[in-house]
Amino acid sequence: MVIKKEQLEEINFLLTQSNQTLRPVSPELEEILYQPFEVLDHGFVRVVDYMGNDSSVVQAARVSYGQGTKKVSADKGLINYLIAHRHTTPLEMCEIKFHIKLPIFVARQWIRHRTASVNEYSARYSIVEDEFYVPKAENLSAQSKINHQGRDETKVLNAAESRRVLEILKNDSVKSYDHYLEMINQDEAGNIVDESKEGLARELARMNLPLSCYTQWYWKIDLHNLLHFLNLRADSHAQYEIRVYAQVMLDMVKKWVPHCFEAFVKHHKDGENLSGPALEVIKKMLNGEKVTQENSGLSSREWDELSKKLNLKS
Ligand SMILES: Cc1cc2nc3c(=O)[nH]c(=O)nc-3n(C[C@H](O)[C@H](O)[C@H](O)COP(=O)(O)OP(=O)(O)OC[C@H]3O[C@@H](n4cnc5c(N)ncnc54)[C@H](O)[C@@H]3O)c2cc1C
Repeated sequence: MVIKKEQLEEINFLLTQSNQTLRPVSPELEEILYQPFEVLDHGFVRVVDYMGNDSSVVQAARVSYGQGTKKVSADKGLINYLIAHRHTTPLEMCEIKFHIKLPIFVARQWIRHRTASVNEYSARYSIVEDEFYVPKAENLSAQSKINHQGRDETKVLNAAESRRVLEILKNDSVKSYDHYLEMINQDEAGNIVDESKEGLARELARMNLPLSCYTQWYWKIDLHNLLHFLNLRADSHAQYEIRVYAQVMLDMVKKWVPHCFEAFVKHHKDGENLSGPALEVIKKMLNGEKVTQENSGLSSREWDELSKKLNLKS
C-alpha cells in the first residue's frame, strides 16, 4: 500500500475540515492539499501546508522599490523581472511543506539540498516497512557510454537480462527483509516472534536493509530554494527516480504560484546558461561568419554541448 491506513484516516479527517483565513491562498493548490500523488511503485508526494502565493512575492518586492512603482508594475511583469534578474529574496517569502515517501537511494540525493527543513521517519524508533523500489522493466537501462554518471535511457536491457535483474532485486530485498525481522525478533506488526530471545535493536538491524527501502519525511522549503531544487532535479541530467518526483512537484508549484512558475520555466527551466566564448560563437554566426569547432575557441565537448543547445547540424 502506498499510503498507510492511519495516514489515509488523517488525510480524510483533514479534508472534512475547513478554516477561514485572511491570509493569501492559492485556490488551485487548496484543491489538492493533503492528497498524495503516487510516484514510483510505493512513493508519493503531497502538500501538507504552504504560506503565501504570487501576491506575497510582489508585496515583498515592492518594499524594495517604494510606493511609486506600485501603479506601473503589473504583478506578472514584476515577477517576470525578478526571476529573470535573479532578484530572489522576494521568492523566499513563500514557503511550502511536503510529505514525501521515497526510496532511500533517492533520499540520499535529495538530502544534498541543504536549505530545506527535514523531519524523517525513524528506523530506530519504528519497524521499517516491507516495501522496496523495483523499477519497471522499461527503466532498466544500460550504463551510458558518454555520461559516466548515469544510464543510457535509449538502451533498455533485453527481456532475458531484465527478467534476471528483477529477480535479483526482488529476491535480495525479500531475503534481507526476512533477516531484518529475524534479527529484531518481531513481525512486521511489531509482535514478538520468539519469547526466549531479546531481539537486536532496530537501529542496528536496519543496516542490512537495501537502499531500495522506502523512507518518508516532511520537507519544508522556501520558493526560491525549491525552484533551485526543481531546476536541478527535473532536468534530464538528473536520475530518473528523483526526476519523477520533481516533475510531480513542478505541477504543484504551477498550481501554487502560477506567475512565478511561468517565469521560472521561461528564464531558467527552458532557458540556457552560455559561457562567454559560446556567446561569441553565436554572435559570429548571427553575423554570417562560418564558425567551426576548430576556430570557435571551444573544446570539442563544449562545442557538442552548444550544438545540442542550438540544435545545430554537425
Ligand atoms: C546531475 C547531478 C549530479 C550530481 N553528482 C554528484 C556527485 O557525483 N557527487 C556529489 O557529491 N554530489 C553530486 N550532486 C549533488 C550536487 O553537487 C549538489 O550537492 C546538489 O545538487 C545540491 O545543490 P546545491 O548545493 O546548489 O543546493 P542546495 O543545498 O539546495 O543549496 C541551494 C543554494 O544555497 C547555497 N548554499 C547552501 N548551502 C551553502 C553553503 N554551506 N555554503 C555556501 N552556499 C550554500 C548555494 O548557493 C546553493 O546553490 C549532483 C547533483 C546533480 C543535479
